[in-house]
Amino acid sequence: MIYYDRRLCTAHVLPAGAIFACVSGREAGVNPGQPGDRGQADPRVLLSVSSYKSYQQAADSPGNQFRCNRERAVDKVIIVQKYGGSSVASTEKICNVAKRIQKAAQESQVVVVVSAMGDTTDELIAMAKAISKVPNERELDKLLATGEQASSALLTMALHELGVPAVSLTGGQAGIITEKTPGKARILKIDSHRVRSELADGQVVVVAGFQGITDSATWADITTLGRGGSDTTAVALAAALKADKCEIYTDVDGVFTADPRVVLTARKLDRISYEEMLELAGQGARVMHSRAVELAEIHGVNILVAHSVREVPGTVITREDQIMEARNPVRGIAHDTDVARITVAAVPDRPGIAYQIFHALAEADINVDVIVQNVSVQGVTDLSFTVNLAELARAEKVLAPVIRNIGAKQMSTSVDLAKVSIVGTGIRSHPGYADKMFGALAREGINIVSITTSEIRITCLIEKADVQKAVQALHTAFELEKPEGEAKGAIG
Ligand code: ADP
Ligand code: ASP
Ligand code: MG
Repeated sequence: MIYYDRRLCTAHVLPAGAIFACVSGREAGVNPGQPGDRGQADPRVLLSVSSYKSYQQAADSPGNQFRCNRERAVDKVIIVQKYGGSSVASTEKICNVAKRIQKAAQESQVVVVVSAMGDTTDELIAMAKAISKVPNERELDKLLATGEQASSALLTMALHELGVPAVSLTGGQAGIITEKTPGKARILKIDSHRVRSELADGQVVVVAGFQGITDSATWADITTLGRGGSDTTAVALAAALKADKCEIYTDVDGVFTADPRVVLTARKLDRISYEEMLELAGQGARVMHSRAVELAEIHGVNILVAHSVREVPGTVITREDQIMEARNPVRGIAHDTDVARITVAAVPDRPGIAYQIFHALAEADINVDVIVQNVSVQGVTDLSFTVNLAELARAEKVLAPVIRNIGAKQMSTSVDLAKVSIVGTGIRSHPGYADKMFGALAREGINIVSITTSEIRITCLIEKADVQKAVQALHTAFELEKPEGEAKGAIG
């Protein structure tokens, strides 16, 4: 066994079965493999001694059976807290967040994930677009990642001012390894040794959200995880650290039955299943990043979504079988105005054409939704589908050569549409929800352009101008303002 002291850069051979010790938990690492490698040990097994001298004396003592006081920090529970952009929008707000963290750090080892201040990410994107219509993706990632790096450093300074030991890390420094896909890279793995080691030393670890680094020892690039991706950083770290709690602090009290800024009667949910939250997030309820919910479900991380200032109970996102109480069949309404529709007109109606179009988009990592193919007339048909508005320019670029190749007449786009969705596990087992949804929209004179469904969701594409009216009408039609279990068709 080899004990490697990082502070003194010395390695010591210890007999098998020795209890490893470190000077303060911070400087030393334990490595049963190569001397010089860092951070192989679980900080929970690191023990502390008061000085290097006493370590040496102990190490030199017969049988090497020394026991030291366990580092107090490692006995505490681990908690991951994420603060969103609006919660850290000014230096004053950053100082308030620091006070909350100070409180949490008295009882827990705290990892904080922070978003960029306020609208920083939008401002950085606007600057990039003022220079280039389709900015180079690698450079855009590098630019956007600076937003979270700034807020994490400022928050750490605020903690220092309160006397709280803290260190900020970029996503890469926190060991977050991602795919190469710029702009929406998925996290592949997390090497949590650095974070664990800092925690064991009693530091609050402040991680810049929304970013990672590609897996290369020499040519690694900074990546970002997609808009809203700091939620995903938080859940991924909670999973990697087997944290006892994962808390997402934001500018609303929790997850509501609809965006509370659109529907004033929207009701906060006490609990929601991963499945329902995933559908809501995927259809525009930006209170949670959908990849974060996906990861939470895979790793069984319970998420608390709550207000970053008000001390009110939030919403727990958990497994469906953990929600025992009666609940309404439709749990929420989501809307998404970041929608662009692409129509490829007069496409030859023969096998392989749809494949060529969607294969090109898939290769470019562009998600496609609400696909409609018209009935073919004289061997040609129109094909339309939606993409995220932010990906429209890239989608057009990718499709231009394909359109020429397949001999389609033209490609047109529309940015005047939006999606509105009803979500709830009750939809799976009860008929009649489509009927009720279409009826509510019809009564408001709202035209449905196209429809998609999943087992627990119905989505309609409508005019963007009608969104607010549609969300409000659906909220009323499905009685979502009523307490759980009191709307018609309630479950449980
Ligand atoms: P943060 O900066 O904290 O990550 P976001 O702006 O990403 O915050 O997400 C919070 C916002 O999500 C809220 O201000 C609210 O307008 C919006 N939102 C949309 N749908 C919902 C919903 N169903 N419940 C709560 N908030 C929602
Ligand atoms: N700052 C990024 C965004 O605005 C990531 C985040 O806030 O989660 O999308
Ligand atoms: Mg967010």
